[in-house]
Amino acid sequence: MAAPKYQAPRGTFDVLPEPARARERIERTAAEIFARAGYEPIATPSFEDTALFERGVGHSTDIVRKEMFTFEDKGGRSLTLRPEGTAPICRAYVEHGMQQLAQPVKLSYLGPFFRHERPQAGRYRQFHQLGIEAIGTESPLADAEAIELLAELLAELGVPGVELRLGSLGSLDTRQAYLEELKAHLRANQDELAKEVRERIEINPLRAFDSDDEGTRAVMATAPKLVERLEGDDAEHFEEVRALLDAAGVEHTIDPTLVRGLDYYTRTIFSFVCDRLGAQSEIGGGGRYDGLVEQLGGRPTPAVGWAAGIERIMLALDEDVAAPGRDVFIAVAEDDRDKRALALVLAGELRKAGLSAELDLAGRALKGQLKQADRIGARRVLILDEESAQLRDMASGEQRQVDTGKLVDEITGGEA
Ligand code: AMP
Repeated sequence: MAAPKYQAPRGTFDVLPEPARARERIERTAAEIFARAGYEPIATPSFEDTALFERGVGHSTDIVRKEMFTFEDKGGRSLTLRPEGTAPICRAYVEHGMQQLAQPVKLSYLGPFFRHERPQAGRYRQFHQLGIEAIGTESPLADAEAIELLAELLAELGVPGVELRLGSLGSLDTRQAYLEELKAHLRANQDELAKEVRERIEINPLRAFDSDDEGTRAVMATAPKLVERLEGDDAEHFEEVRALLDAAGVEHTIDPTLVRGLDYYTRTIFSFVCDRLGAQSEIGGGGRYDGLVEQLGGRPTPAVGWAAGIERIMLALDEDVAAPGRDVFIAVAEDDRDKRALALVLAGELRKAGLSAELDLAGRALKGQLKQADRIGARRVLILDEESAQLRDMASGEQRQVDTGKLVDEITGGEA
Protein backbone atom coordinates (compact mmCIF):
# COMPACT_ATOMS: atom_id res chain seq x y z
CA MET A 1 0.00 0.00 0.00
CA ALA A 2 1.29 3.47 -0.82
CA ALA A 3 2.21 5.63 2.17
CA PRO A 4 -0.53 8.14 3.00
CA LYS A 5 0.06 11.50 1.40
CA TYR A 6 -0.10 13.39 4.69
CA GLN A 7 1.62 12.10 7.81
CA ALA A 8 2.34 13.55 11.25
CA PRO A 9 5.64 15.49 11.06
CA ARG A 10 8.89 13.76 12.05
CA GLY A 11 9.26 13.42 15.81
CA THR A 12 5.54 14.01 16.45
CA PHE A 13 2.76 11.48 16.87
CA ASP A 14 -0.97 11.09 17.16
CA VAL A 15 -2.35 9.91 20.47
CA LEU A 16 -5.02 7.36 19.58
CA PRO A 17 -7.85 6.54 22.01
CA GLU A 18 -6.16 3.72 23.96
CA PRO A 19 -3.00 5.60 24.84
CA ALA A 20 -5.09 8.74 25.25
CA ARG A 21 -6.96 7.00 28.06
CA ALA A 22 -3.67 5.99 29.69
CA ARG A 23 -2.65 9.61 29.46
CA GLU A 24 -5.83 10.86 31.01
CA ARG A 25 -5.20 8.65 34.02
CA ILE A 26 -1.69 10.10 34.42
CA GLU A 27 -2.94 13.66 34.09
CA ARG A 28 -5.82 13.08 36.49
CA THR A 29 -3.60 11.44 39.10
CA ALA A 30 -1.12 14.31 38.86
CA ALA A 31 -3.86 16.95 39.07
CA GLU A 32 -5.21 15.31 42.24
CA ILE A 33 -1.77 15.12 43.87
CA PHE A 34 -1.02 18.75 42.98
CA ALA A 35 -4.38 19.96 44.28
CA ARG A 36 -4.03 18.06 47.56
CA ALA A 37 -0.69 19.81 48.14
CA GLY A 38 -2.03 23.25 47.18
CA TYR A 39 -0.28 23.70 43.83
CA GLU A 40 -2.68 25.76 41.70
CA PRO A 41 -2.95 25.21 37.95
CA ILE A 42 -1.49 27.77 35.54
CA ALA A 43 -1.36 27.76 31.73
CA THR A 44 0.96 29.90 29.62
CA PRO A 45 1.01 30.28 25.81
CA SER A 46 2.56 27.66 23.52
CA PHE A 47 4.97 30.26 22.15
CA GLU A 48 6.88 33.14 23.68
CA ASP A 49 9.35 35.83 22.63
CA THR A 50 12.56 34.05 21.67
CA ALA A 51 14.54 36.32 24.01
CA LEU A 52 12.75 34.83 27.04
CA PHE A 53 14.30 31.42 26.43
CA GLU A 54 17.67 32.82 25.34
CA ARG A 55 17.85 34.75 28.60
CA GLY A 56 16.08 32.23 30.82
CA VAL A 57 17.34 28.86 29.63
CA GLY A 58 20.79 30.18 28.70
CA HIS A 59 22.73 30.87 25.49
CA SER A 60 25.20 28.03 26.04
CA THR A 61 22.61 25.26 26.41
CA ASP A 62 21.82 22.72 23.69
CA ILE A 63 18.19 23.81 23.90
CA VAL A 64 18.92 27.39 22.89
CA ARG A 65 21.81 26.64 20.54
CA LYS A 66 20.22 23.84 18.54
CA GLU A 67 16.76 22.77 19.57
CA MET A 68 14.34 25.67 19.42
CA PHE A 69 11.54 25.94 16.90
CA THR A 70 11.99 29.65 16.23
CA PHE A 71 10.05 31.63 13.65
CA GLU A 72 9.30 35.19 12.69
CA ASP A 73 5.72 36.39 12.83
CA LYS A 74 4.21 38.72 10.24
CA GLY A 75 5.32 41.72 12.28
CA GLY A 76 8.94 40.60 12.18
CA ARG A 77 9.04 39.51 15.88
CA SER A 78 11.05 36.44 16.74
CA LEU A 79 8.91 33.84 18.50
CA THR A 80 9.74 30.34 19.77
CA LEU A 81 7.56 27.33 20.50
CA ARG A 82 8.20 26.77 24.19
CA PRO A 83 10.92 24.18 24.85
CA GLU A 84 10.28 24.19 28.61
CA GLY A 85 7.86 25.59 31.16
CA THR A 86 9.81 27.27 33.95
CA ALA A 87 10.98 30.43 32.17
CA PRO A 88 7.42 31.17 30.91
CA ILE A 89 5.98 30.66 34.41
CA CYS A 90 8.58 32.99 35.92
CA ARG A 91 7.72 35.51 33.20
CA ALA A 92 4.06 35.22 34.19
CA TYR A 93 4.97 35.53 37.90
CA VAL A 94 6.73 38.86 37.25
CA GLU A 95 4.22 40.11 34.65
CA HIS A 96 1.21 39.54 36.93
CA GLY A 97 2.84 40.90 40.08
CA MET A 98 2.63 37.57 41.86
CA GLN A 99 5.42 38.70 44.19
CA GLN A 100 2.66 40.72 45.95
CA LEU A 101 0.87 37.49 46.91
CA ALA A 102 1.65 35.41 49.99
CA GLN A 103 4.83 33.49 49.20
CA PRO A 104 5.62 30.98 47.97
CA VAL A 105 3.33 30.93 44.96
CA LYS A 106 2.80 27.25 44.22
CA LEU A 107 1.85 26.43 40.63
CA SER A 108 1.28 23.34 38.52
CA TYR A 109 1.04 22.92 34.76
CA LEU A 110 0.83 20.44 31.96
CA GLY A 111 0.94 20.73 28.21
CA PRO A 112 2.93 20.33 25.00
CA PHE A 113 6.58 21.39 24.63
CA PHE A 114 8.78 21.48 21.55
CA ARG A 115 12.44 20.70 20.94
CA HIS A 116 14.12 20.06 17.63
CA GLU A 117 15.98 16.94 18.81
CA ARG A 118 16.88 13.79 16.92
CA PRO A 119 13.76 11.65 17.36
CA GLN A 120 14.13 8.25 19.05
CA ALA A 121 12.25 6.17 21.61
CA GLY A 122 11.32 8.53 24.43
CA ARG A 123 12.57 11.61 22.61
CA TYR A 124 10.22 13.57 20.40
CA ARG A 125 9.94 17.00 18.85
CA GLN A 126 6.57 17.60 20.43
CA PHE A 127 6.22 16.02 23.86
CA HIS A 128 4.20 16.67 26.99
CA GLN A 129 5.32 17.64 30.45
CA LEU A 130 3.58 18.05 33.73
CA GLY A 131 5.26 19.85 36.55
CA ILE A 132 5.19 22.15 39.55
CA GLU A 133 6.98 25.28 40.69
CA ALA A 134 7.18 26.79 44.20
CA ILE A 135 8.26 30.40 43.67
CA GLY A 136 9.32 32.68 46.52
CA THR A 137 10.87 30.31 49.02
CA GLU A 138 14.41 29.37 49.88
CA SER A 139 13.38 26.71 52.38
CA PRO A 140 14.83 23.22 51.93
CA LEU A 141 11.33 22.05 52.88
CA ALA A 142 10.09 23.28 49.49
CA ASP A 143 12.79 21.24 47.72
CA ALA A 144 11.96 18.15 49.76
CA GLU A 145 8.21 18.57 49.28
CA ALA A 146 8.56 19.04 45.52
CA ILE A 147 10.74 15.94 45.22
CA GLU A 148 8.40 13.98 47.45
CA LEU A 149 5.41 14.89 45.25
CA LEU A 150 7.12 13.52 42.14
CA ALA A 151 8.07 10.36 44.03
CA GLU A 152 4.45 10.05 45.16
CA LEU A 153 3.12 10.56 41.64
CA LEU A 154 5.37 7.87 40.17
CA ALA A 155 4.51 5.50 43.01
CA GLU A 156 0.78 6.10 42.72
CA LEU A 157 0.92 5.52 38.96
CA GLY A 158 2.84 2.30 39.57
CA VAL A 159 5.94 3.25 37.54
CA PRO A 160 8.46 0.44 38.11
CA GLY A 161 12.25 0.61 38.47
CA VAL A 162 12.53 4.25 39.53
CA GLU A 163 15.64 5.69 41.15
CA LEU A 164 16.14 9.23 42.48
CA ARG A 165 19.50 10.94 42.00
CA LEU A 166 20.27 14.06 43.92
CA GLY A 167 22.97 16.68 43.62
CA SER A 168 23.66 20.32 44.39
CA LEU A 169 25.20 23.00 42.22
CA GLY A 170 25.68 25.45 45.10
CA SER A 171 25.15 29.15 44.64
CA LEU A 172 26.36 31.02 41.58
CA ASP A 173 29.61 32.07 43.34
CA THR A 174 30.56 28.56 44.45
CA ARG A 175 29.70 27.28 41.01
CA GLN A 176 31.78 29.96 39.32
CA ALA A 177 34.85 29.10 41.42
CA TYR A 178 34.26 25.39 40.87
CA LEU A 179 33.86 25.84 37.11
CA GLU A 180 37.31 27.49 36.92
CA GLU A 181 38.76 24.52 38.79
CA LEU A 182 36.96 22.08 36.49
CA LYS A 183 38.06 23.90 33.33
CA ALA A 184 41.67 23.77 34.54
CA HIS A 185 41.32 20.00 35.01
CA LEU A 186 39.81 19.60 31.52
CA ARG A 187 42.49 21.76 29.91
CA ALA A 188 45.22 19.79 31.65
CA ASN A 189 43.79 16.58 30.18
CA GLN A 190 42.45 17.89 26.89
CA ASP A 191 44.21 15.35 24.70
CA GLU A 192 42.15 12.58 26.32
CA LEU A 193 38.80 14.32 25.72
CA ALA A 194 36.25 13.77 22.94
CA LYS A 195 36.33 16.51 20.32
CA GLU A 196 32.92 18.01 21.20
CA VAL A 197 33.83 18.12 24.89
CA ARG A 198 37.19 19.76 24.16
CA GLU A 199 35.50 22.39 22.01
CA ARG A 200 33.13 23.29 24.80
CA ILE A 201 35.48 23.46 27.77
CA GLU A 202 35.01 27.21 27.97
CA ILE A 203 31.25 27.42 27.31
CA ASN A 204 29.84 24.41 29.14
CA PRO A 205 32.42 22.30 30.99
CA LEU A 206 29.77 20.61 33.21
CA ARG A 207 28.37 18.73 30.23
CA ALA A 208 31.61 16.73 30.12
CA PHE A 209 30.11 14.63 32.94
CA ASP A 210 27.38 13.55 30.50
CA SER A 211 29.73 12.24 27.82
CA ASP A 212 29.65 8.58 26.68
CA ASP A 213 33.19 8.82 25.31
CA GLU A 214 35.59 6.47 27.10
CA GLY A 215 38.55 8.85 27.25
CA THR A 216 36.34 11.65 28.55
CA ARG A 217 34.85 9.37 31.18
CA ALA A 218 38.32 8.48 32.45
CA VAL A 219 39.20 12.18 32.76
CA MET A 220 35.92 12.87 34.54
CA ALA A 221 36.47 10.08 37.06
CA THR A 222 39.31 12.11 38.57
CA ALA A 223 37.69 15.51 38.05
CA PRO A 224 36.84 17.67 41.09
CA LYS A 225 33.16 17.31 42.09
CA LEU A 226 30.95 20.26 42.87
CA VAL A 227 29.14 18.60 45.81
CA GLU A 228 32.54 18.30 47.50
CA ARG A 229 33.12 22.06 47.12
CA LEU A 230 29.88 23.24 48.72
CA GLU A 231 30.43 25.61 51.63
CA GLY A 232 28.47 27.39 54.34
CA ASP A 233 24.80 27.98 53.55
CA ASP A 234 24.92 25.88 50.38
CA ALA A 235 26.30 22.85 52.18
CA GLU A 236 23.80 23.32 55.00
CA HIS A 237 20.90 23.66 52.57
CA PHE A 238 21.88 20.46 50.79
CA GLU A 239 22.28 18.62 54.12
CA GLU A 240 18.82 19.76 55.18
CA VAL A 241 17.17 18.65 51.91
CA ARG A 242 18.75 15.23 52.36
CA ALA A 243 17.68 14.97 56.00
CA LEU A 244 14.10 15.93 55.09
CA LEU A 245 13.98 13.34 52.31
CA ASP A 246 15.26 10.73 54.75
CA ALA A 247 12.59 11.76 57.26
CA ALA A 248 9.91 11.45 54.56
CA GLY A 249 11.23 8.05 53.53
CA VAL A 250 12.18 9.18 50.01
CA GLU A 251 15.14 7.06 48.96
CA HIS A 252 17.84 8.81 47.00
CA THR A 253 21.46 8.49 45.98
CA ILE A 254 23.87 11.38 45.77
CA ASP A 255 25.19 11.78 42.25
CA PRO A 256 28.15 14.18 42.17
CA THR A 257 28.16 14.06 38.36
CA LEU A 258 24.54 15.11 37.95
CA VAL A 259 24.07 18.03 35.56
CA ARG A 260 21.00 19.43 33.86
CA GLY A 261 20.59 20.84 30.40
CA LEU A 262 19.37 24.25 31.53
CA ASP A 263 21.53 27.05 32.89
CA TYR A 264 19.18 28.41 35.52
CA TYR A 265 19.69 25.82 38.23
CA THR A 266 21.30 26.69 41.59
CA ARG A 267 21.72 24.47 44.67
CA THR A 268 19.46 21.38 44.58
CA ILE A 269 19.13 19.41 41.35
CA PHE A 270 17.51 16.00 40.99
CA SER A 271 16.60 13.42 38.43
CA PHE A 272 14.24 10.44 38.57
CA VAL A 273 15.52 7.75 36.22
CA CYS A 274 13.76 4.55 35.25
CA ASP A 275 15.53 1.33 34.26
CA ARG A 276 12.79 0.43 31.73
CA LEU A 277 13.52 3.38 29.49
CA GLY A 278 16.77 2.65 27.65
CA ALA A 279 18.93 5.55 26.54
CA GLN A 280 16.44 8.29 27.44
CA SER A 281 16.20 7.07 31.01
CA GLU A 282 15.10 10.25 32.77
CA ILE A 283 11.43 10.28 33.58
CA GLY A 284 11.42 13.63 35.36
CA GLY A 285 13.69 16.07 37.08
CA GLY A 286 14.30 19.60 38.18
CA GLY A 287 15.78 21.65 40.94
CA ARG A 288 16.20 25.06 42.45
CA TYR A 289 16.55 28.18 40.32
CA ASP A 290 17.17 31.02 42.75
CA GLY A 291 18.38 33.51 40.12
CA LEU A 292 15.86 33.07 37.32
CA VAL A 293 13.07 35.44 38.38
CA GLU A 294 15.57 38.26 38.89
CA GLN A 295 17.20 37.47 35.57
CA LEU A 296 13.81 37.94 33.92
CA GLY A 297 13.36 41.36 35.50
CA GLY A 298 11.73 40.50 38.82
CA ARG A 299 12.96 40.98 42.37
CA PRO A 300 15.45 38.39 43.67
CA THR A 301 13.17 35.38 44.26
CA PRO A 302 14.31 31.87 45.15
CA ALA A 303 12.30 29.02 43.65
CA VAL A 304 12.24 25.29 43.03
CA GLY A 305 10.37 23.01 40.63
CA TRP A 306 10.38 20.01 38.32
CA ALA A 307 8.91 18.60 35.15
CA ALA A 308 8.18 15.02 34.16
CA GLY A 309 7.65 13.70 30.64
CA ILE A 310 4.21 12.17 30.11
CA GLU A 311 5.40 10.01 27.17
CA ARG A 312 8.28 8.70 29.28
CA ILE A 313 5.87 7.77 32.08
CA MET A 314 3.72 5.95 29.52
CA LEU A 315 6.72 4.10 28.09
CA ALA A 316 7.78 3.05 31.59
CA LEU A 317 4.27 1.83 32.41
CA ASP A 318 3.94 0.06 29.06
CA GLU A 319 0.21 -0.20 29.45
CA ASP A 320 -2.78 0.91 27.51
CA VAL A 321 -6.02 1.32 29.28
CA ALA A 322 -8.88 -0.80 27.93
CA ALA A 323 -12.04 0.99 26.90
CA PRO A 324 -14.52 1.25 29.74
CA GLY A 325 -17.81 -0.57 29.05
CA ARG A 326 -21.03 1.41 28.53
CA ASP A 327 -23.99 1.31 30.86
CA VAL A 328 -26.60 1.45 28.12
CA PHE A 329 -26.81 1.17 24.33
CA ILE A 330 -30.08 2.45 22.92
CA ALA A 331 -31.27 0.53 19.88
CA VAL A 332 -34.21 1.40 17.65
CA ALA A 333 -36.16 -1.56 16.23
CA GLU A 334 -37.42 0.26 13.20
CA ASP A 335 -35.90 3.17 11.39
CA ASP A 336 -38.45 5.62 12.67
CA ARG A 337 -37.66 9.30 13.05
CA ASP A 338 -39.66 9.68 16.28
CA LYS A 339 -37.99 6.66 17.86
CA ARG A 340 -34.57 7.97 16.95
CA ALA A 341 -35.49 11.33 18.49
CA LEU A 342 -36.68 9.51 21.63
CA ALA A 343 -33.38 7.59 21.72
CA LEU A 344 -31.47 10.90 21.62
CA VAL A 345 -33.57 12.35 24.45
CA LEU A 346 -33.25 9.22 26.62
CA ALA A 347 -29.47 9.07 26.07
CA GLY A 348 -29.26 12.68 27.26
CA GLU A 349 -31.27 11.86 30.41
CA LEU A 350 -29.11 8.85 31.22
CA ARG A 351 -25.90 10.86 30.76
CA LYS A 352 -27.21 13.65 32.99
CA ALA A 353 -27.79 11.01 35.66
CA GLY A 354 -24.12 10.02 35.37
CA LEU A 355 -24.60 6.87 33.29
CA SER A 356 -22.81 6.26 30.02
CA ALA A 357 -25.08 5.80 27.02
CA GLU A 358 -24.58 5.44 23.29
CA LEU A 359 -26.83 5.50 20.28
CA ASP A 360 -26.63 3.94 16.87
CA LEU A 361 -25.19 6.66 14.63
CA ALA A 362 -24.70 4.46 11.57
CA GLY A 363 -28.30 3.63 10.60
CA ARG A 364 -27.81 -0.09 11.27
CA ALA A 365 -30.62 -2.64 11.26
CA LEU A 366 -31.60 -3.94 14.74
CA LYS A 367 -29.33 -6.97 14.44
CA GLY A 368 -26.37 -4.76 13.59
CA GLN A 369 -27.19 -2.47 16.51
CA LEU A 370 -27.16 -5.39 18.95
CA LYS A 371 -23.83 -6.47 17.54
CA GLN A 372 -22.46 -2.96 18.01
CA ALA A 373 -23.75 -2.92 21.62
CA ASP A 374 -21.83 -6.12 22.24
CA ARG A 375 -18.69 -4.75 20.57
CA ILE A 376 -18.54 -1.68 22.82
CA GLY A 377 -19.18 -3.75 25.95
CA ALA A 378 -22.62 -2.34 26.75
CA ARG A 379 -24.05 -3.84 29.93
CA ARG A 380 -27.64 -3.19 28.86
CA VAL A 381 -29.47 -2.50 25.64
CA LEU A 382 -32.65 -0.51 25.56
CA ILE A 383 -34.67 -1.55 22.51
CA LEU A 384 -37.27 0.94 21.40
CA ASP A 385 -39.83 -0.80 19.24
CA GLU A 386 -43.18 0.35 18.00
CA GLU A 387 -45.22 0.13 21.21
CA SER A 388 -42.83 -0.55 24.01
CA ALA A 389 -39.33 -0.29 25.35
CA GLN A 390 -37.43 -3.43 26.34
CA LEU A 391 -34.36 -3.41 28.56
CA ARG A 392 -32.03 -6.33 27.98
CA ASP A 393 -29.27 -7.32 30.37
CA MET A 394 -26.39 -8.39 28.13
CA ALA A 395 -24.75 -10.73 30.65
CA SER A 396 -27.87 -12.74 31.60
CA GLY A 397 -29.89 -12.22 28.41
CA GLU A 398 -32.89 -11.30 30.57
CA GLN A 399 -35.28 -8.84 29.02
CA ARG A 400 -38.12 -6.85 30.54
CA GLN A 401 -40.44 -4.09 29.55
CA VAL A 402 -39.64 -0.68 31.04
CA ASP A 403 -41.33 2.70 31.30
CA THR A 404 -39.20 5.18 29.34
CA GLY A 405 -40.58 7.98 31.53
CA LYS A 406 -38.74 6.46 34.49
CA LEU A 407 -35.75 5.04 32.71
CA VAL A 408 -33.07 6.23 35.13
CA ASP A 409 -34.95 4.71 38.09
CA GLU A 410 -35.57 1.52 36.14
CA ILE A 411 -31.84 1.15 35.57
CA THR A 412 -30.41 2.27 38.87
CA GLY A 413 -33.22 0.83 41.01
CA GLY A 414 -33.99 4.37 42.20
CA GLU A 415 -30.50 4.94 43.62
CA ALA A 416 -29.25 7.48 41.10
P1 AMP B 1 13.89 19.02 31.08
O1 AMP B 1 12.86 20.09 30.78
O2 AMP B 1 14.93 18.91 30.02
O3 AMP B 1 14.43 19.14 32.46
O4 AMP B 1 13.13 17.62 30.99
C1 AMP B 1 12.16 17.22 31.92
C2 AMP B 1 11.51 15.94 31.46
O5 AMP B 1 10.84 16.14 30.23
C3 AMP B 1 12.50 14.82 31.17
O6 AMP B 1 12.78 14.11 32.35
C4 AMP B 1 11.73 13.96 30.18
O7 AMP B 1 10.85 13.10 30.87
C5 AMP B 1 10.91 14.97 29.43
N1 AMP B 1 11.52 15.32 28.12
C6 AMP B 1 12.48 16.24 27.86
N2 AMP B 1 12.75 16.30 26.54
C7 AMP B 1 11.95 15.40 25.93
C8 AMP B 1 11.75 14.98 24.56
N3 AMP B 1 12.42 15.53 23.55
N4 AMP B 1 10.83 14.01 24.33
C9 AMP B 1 10.13 13.45 25.33
N5 AMP B 1 10.28 13.81 26.62
C10 AMP B 1 11.17 14.76 26.93
